[in-house]
Amino acid sequence: MSMAAVLFIASSCVNVTKTEVHVLPDSPAPRVMMPALFTNVPDGLIDELGVKDGIPSSLCSFLVIKDGKEILIDSGNGVADSQLVPLLEVHGVKPEDIDYVFITHLHGDHIGGMVKDGKAVFTNAVVYINKDEHAGWDNARDMDMMKAYADRIVLFDADDKLPCSIKAVKAYGHTPGHTMYRIDDVVFAGDIMHGTALQLANPESCARFDQNQDQAAQARKDAIASFKAEGMKVYGMHFPAPYYIQF
Ligand SMILES: [Zn+2]
Repeated sequence: MSMAAVLFIASSCVNVTKTEVHVLPDSPAPRVMMPALFTNVPDGLIDELGVKDGIPSSLCSFLVIKDGKEILIDSGNGVADSQLVPLLEVHGVKPEDIDYVFITHLHGDHIGGMVKDGKAVFTNAVVYINKDEHAGWDNARDMDMMKAYADRIVLFDADDKLPCSIKAVKAYGHTPGHTMYRIDDVVFAGDIMHGTALQLANPESCARFDQNQDQAAQARKDAIASFKAEGMKVYGMHFPAPYYIQF
């Protein structure tokens, strides 16, 4: 991280106020994940759980207001009917008001909303991406988001101090640097689970889009154990309504 970035972080977010979290479901209709999208599913479990016609899911981003800063965690997929910007406006937030965007990983359904017609949607935001995630993608430099936000992307180490006392938590496996974010007692868990009904019952089950399946399964088991140990409130980008689980 550059010295300028370090100074920037150190001088931001000094006023302590109540943290607000707003869920921004990106698609107008509820979503499901078909059981065939998952590996390592024990015989009979899908029927037992009653999810053979689809495991309830969603695609969400999150608006967090903390210490007077407006923070976005992921940005949905940026397709024509994406609800990200309309929902921000419902909460009185314009795209140019966003101070920081924290990216969990570089899949299109998480960064697609960052760019429209090749231009940055969040014209004043500084964008935070885990260094390992950026390094894990051969084409990272060529991504529209990287070009559109070139001079205000901060690549961080998971142990770095981030603005607003946000903590990055490694959960590698789904992608090379997949990262959860912890804010106070709340976790934004990215793609640690794509089908909560199945994966809470059997964390060994991986979505086929988990790039490193063994690592992803281990990360999921570790995460669930720590959520339970600490009684965390956990929001997920693909959790079904109400989009969080109180462990
Ligand atoms: Zn995803």
